[in-house]
Amino acid sequence: ALLARHPRRTEALLPLLLDAQQALGCVPQSLHGGIADHLGLTLAQVRAAIAFYHFLSAEPLGDYCLRLSDSVTDRLGGGEAIRDGLLARLGAQQGVTRSDGRVSVHMTSCIGLADQGPAALVNGQPLTRLTLARARRLADLVERGVPLADWPRGWFSVAQPVRLAGPLLSGRPRRGEALRRAMRQGRDAALHEIRLAGLRGCGGAGFSTGLKWRLAKEAVGAARYVTCNADEGEPGTFKDRLLLARRPDLVFEGMSVAGYVIGAKRGLLYLRGEYAYLMPHLRATLRRRHAEGLLGNRVLGTDFSFDIDIQLGAGAYVCGEETALLESLEGRRGIPRLRPPYPVSAGYLGGPTVNNNVETLAWAAHILARGAAGFRARGTAQSPGGKLLSIAGDVAAPGVYEFDFGITVREVLMACGAADTQAVQVGGPSGVLISAADFDRRIAFEDLSTGGAFTVFDASRDLVDIARQFTHFFAFESCGLCTPCRVGTQLLARAADQLADGRAGGADLRRIEETGRLMRQTSHCGLGQTAANPLLDLLSRFRPLCESRLRGDGFAPDAVDGRRPCGREAR
Ligand code: SF4
Repeated sequence: ALLARHPRRTEALLPLLLDAQQALGCVPQSLHGGIADHLGLTLAQVRAAIAFYHFLSAEPLGDYCLRLSDSVTDRLGGGEAIRDGLLARLGAQQGVTRSDGRVSVHMTSCIGLADQGPAALVNGQPLTRLTLARARRLADLVERGVPLADWPRGWFSVAQPVRLAGPLLSGRPRRGEALRRAMRQGRDAALHEIRLAGLRGCGGAGFSTGLKWRLAKEAVGAARYVTCNADEGEPGTFKDRLLLARRPDLVFEGMSVAGYVIGAKRGLLYLRGEYAYLMPHLRATLRRRHAEGLLGNRVLGTDFSFDIDIQLGAGAYVCGEETALLESLEGRRGIPRLRPPYPVSAGYLGGPTVNNNVETLAWAAHILARGAAGFRARGTAQSPGGKLLSIAGDVAAPGVYEFDFGITVREVLMACGAADTQAVQVGGPSGVLISAADFDRRIAFEDLSTGGAFTVFDASRDLVDIARQFTHFFAFESCGLCTPCRVGTQLLARAADQLADGRAGGADLRRIEETGRLMRQTSHCGLGQTAANPLLDLLSRFRPLCESRLRGDGFAPDAVDGRRPCGREAR
């Protein structure tokens, strides 16, 4: 019955595996052959996919599968003590299903709740603002076998805090307004409006959205696609979660407009597995859009037909890279492709594909509804419009803020109530760690470019340990395809441990810099190219701090190999 629910196509692999995981608590070995036959894959392909995605397992994960978010902000809030308390109370070992099959406890990368951590997922449902006391109660509920439906409802409440609203978050265009206006104008004029606005990709790279749409429109191909990257995995960012929860129509509308402009019939929204709890809400939005003639055959009575599917990811940060995302959508491991060809000419199933971030698509719909002039008038010449920031860490009011591009870091810090700030991680671990000397720099593509994470650390925080955690994150999430990243991230993680533990010497700092440079130049995708950023930024902006942590003359090497657990289990 499970197999019959899924079409006999390779692209059905991940949905089928997730379906099995949810229904059976794992994807048992006994099913692998049947899945391979059903989809026309080899057994090795099925097993490789199960091994690749963190949220899939061939072994049972227990009646309650707890995944504790292990991001820097969770740790700032006491996440490690909560993990230790839970494991002790449950008599469980991290990453191992308890022998009675009741429960397993895992550590996972940031789950997109940095504004309300420490956080966790239990059987995919989000738990926010965990405390030691709550963890103890949670363990008791698990021991008594209480169904999740009977757990305190407040534990599962996810706030969507808009701390500062600009045109995007405060404007409420009518459903279909952008699409109607685009269709009244025609494809070329709608594309011209996006180009006139100067909209750039909000995932961080800042590629011109209008140019991307034009390239996909003009590329040769029988079928075209629009994919929405909702795999918001950069630790510290959560603004796409908020947009999907509060403005899903705007995101879907952006996809429809992109589909209309490039001549696509199909859109796919790739939703990170950590946000599976948003699925019912998103599906209800799609149903409503269908009912109103905004999706499906002959949209608004015209000859334009367009539909949108949602596919869940399964816990792999690298799938946020656009070609890895396409691989995942096509039913393979999320391993980044070689480029060229670029997705605009050969993307999903080989067709010309526009792949845009959630926020980019929301802005595109906003621009089509309100016109390009208002957008262009804000921001800077090279970075028009506004940007959503996910602000977390040592601030009085964590949440999502909408600013015009060009705002300084100092102004952002004032707006969110930060005090005694030592450093800010702008753009997450793959972005840049800045010190007070940089606080007059601007959030803009031409200065500090960011996908949206803005994590603040006050003077009490140990930046060496924070860089260590980020470095372990990359080592954990590397897909292992290319040697510079696979080996380099492990070397850096070990070096970061040595530095944090006072076991590093001056030569180790030079080795970090050499390894980081090599990874930047030779890694296949952005993960490897940026994995050294936390340590390199620490060394360049906080050199005296690093030197103060070097081992003294009396240091004697011991038998420890330098490796400390990074908090998560290895793949
Ligand atoms: Fe995979 Fe890292 Fe190479 Fe990217 S850089 S392809 S994540 S091994």
